[in-house]
Amino acid sequence: MAPINAAKHFQYLVIGGGSGGIASARRAAEFGVSVGLVEKQALGGTCVNVGCVPKKLMFQAASHAEELHDMKDYGLNVNLTEPFNWKDVKERRDAYIKRLNGIYLNNLKNSKVELITGEAKFVDKDKVVVGDDTYSADHILIAVGGYPTWPSIPGAEHGISSDGFFELESLPSKSVVVGAGYIAVEMAGILKSLGSDVTQIIRKDKVLRTFDSLVVDAVTLEIENMGINLVKNTEVANVEKKQDGKLKVITKSGVVTDDVDCLLWAIGRTSNTANLGLDKAGIEVDKRGDIVVDDFQNTSNPRVYAVGDVIGKWQLTPVAIAAGRKLAHRLFNNETGLKLDYDNIPTVVFSHPPIGTCGITEAEARAKYEKVKVYQSSFTPLYHALTQRKQMTKMKLICAGDNEVVVGLHMIGRGCDEMLQGFGVATRMGATKKDFDNVVAIHPTSAEELVTMR
Ligand code: FAD
Ligand code: NDP
Repeated sequence: MAPINAAKHFQYLVIGGGSGGIASARRAAEFGVSVGLVEKQALGGTCVNVGCVPKKLMFQAASHAEELHDMKDYGLNVNLTEPFNWKDVKERRDAYIKRLNGIYLNNLKNSKVELITGEAKFVDKDKVVVGDDTYSADHILIAVGGYPTWPSIPGAEHGISSDGFFELESLPSKSVVVGAGYIAVEMAGILKSLGSDVTQIIRKDKVLRTFDSLVVDAVTLEIENMGINLVKNTEVANVEKKQDGKLKVITKSGVVTDDVDCLLWAIGRTSNTANLGLDKAGIEVDKRGDIVVDDFQNTSNPRVYAVGDVIGKWQLTPVAIAAGRKLAHRLFNNETGLKLDYDNIPTVVFSHPPIGTCGITEAEARAKYEKVKVYQSSFTPLYHALTQRKQMTKMKLICAGDNEVVVGLHMIGRGCDEMLQGFGVATRMGATKKDFDNVVAIHPTSAEELVTMR
């Protein structure tokens, strides 16, 4: 009989049941490995519970609301008698996510991954405790993700984060969104399209500053065109809660937004590493608290690996999944050289209209290559030919070298979210401008512009 305090041993122990952890655990189990997975909250992690999935559902609601304004221009006189029913959508959204949690649980069971519920903490180089139980493993994966960063500003506690956005029971009539990244842009757009009076406060003069200049300029303009009050070049100085429960948000430049129902902080995310006991396991973190890994997801502890948001780069669900799966293949299926290539990762921002981008920016290309040729297009998509509401589509192809390899593809406009995936395949395969030109266009679409640019 095992001694009472003996650790349960797995070949693979995964900490974190989100996108990266679940994908890696299940793939490892397919190779016949004994796998334990520790999760302290709902299965599915950020993406399923407070990220991609509920966000996309709200983006879809917002897109419907936008299109309702266009209906009359297409001869459809829609008379809405009821205002937008946030509560109804939230209930259905929550029920859908609950279903997904159940599906994830079943998938783990079917894959024979043992679920351990609780918070994991390292106590040694190869040991983890969860509650009163100790677990050891040949290999341990850290896939604990992160949480929304909170500012240290007087009154900041009166605001909410993106997590709180998904708890809102009704549409705020007046909102302030702080931040200039993916979440701020997406959530400000959702709130505005559904009818909230939105102010967005950004530190610089543009949003999404790490994107290509074409996208940065266009999305900043579209945000203003859709009626969001974009307050630039300043930060929030303090927040006051008034007697009626509403907020007064004051910036360092003296801009006051009064009677605010919802203040949303969206200024980045912090990795969940502070309470993991990483010092006990000799695992190095950088000054932001992100786990330091090499190209193969190895940490400074030879038995421990990290994937996903916790490594602080490319914080996207498919990236966490791909890195987690490749790691499982490398560790348990003898595919020793396998690693995720972090170049040419396609990404979409669900702004209004959406952004699709892949590869490097023009500025990066000019710094990297001697010979760079840029092709650009800007047009009103056919959808908006009949509508009073207008949104532009803009596209840019960045080509390098004599044979014009496409090293960057950037676009914003209606449908660009769904347009990108296939072009992602092409750029990954090293497609040249000539390859693009050799494809017969599909007419009339917006995507055809990408294969007809001159
Ligand atoms: P997570 O999914 O965060 O999973 C980590 C898990 O670890 C969590 O379940 C957590 O509870 C658990 N955990 C943490 N510490 C411990 C511990 N000590 N013990 C046990 N369990 C622990 N990405 C996209 O690709 N597309 C999108 O449209 C998109 N939209 C987003 C919208 C929002 C609002 C947010 C916040 C994110 C969005 N993302 C999107 C990013 C995406 O959600 C993340 O990149 C992805 O979830 C990262 O996966 P992960 O496995 O690294 O971490
Ligand atoms: P981001 O890193 O995208 O953006 C945060 C931005 O907020 C910064 O770039 C910065 O912009 C600004 N900021 C930082 N600190 C402050 C501050 N103190 N005051 C005001 N502004 C500040 O973070 P998000 O939280 O938006 O999203 C986290 C990640 O989640 C994203 O990077 C993305 O990887 C992922 N995500 C993906 C989505 C998708 O795929 N569609 C959707 C949502 C999230 P500046 O320097 O210009 O001020």
